[in-house]
Amino acid sequence: MRYGYHCEECEEAVWPATSRGELQWLKNREHVVREVARHVQAGLDTWITEGLEFLDHHNGHSVILSKRP
Ligand SMILES: [Zn+2]
Repeated sequence: MRYGYHCEECEEAVWPATSRGELQWLKNREHVVREVARHVQAGLDTWITEGLEFLDHHNGHSVILSKRP
């Protein structure tokens, strides 16, 4: 099963290659992870980069954790 983020306002979604638990973790701690990401330019997992990019792009929107149909 593939999980991802879905923006209810833009009807856009992203499906990073990771588990539901990891996506939940990133969403709950977005600000902390973003802070850390600023200091580690290299070595971040792709799904973290993808996830942060999406959350950044849809900042202030209604983003939910979604399951790919
Ligand atoms: Zn959006």
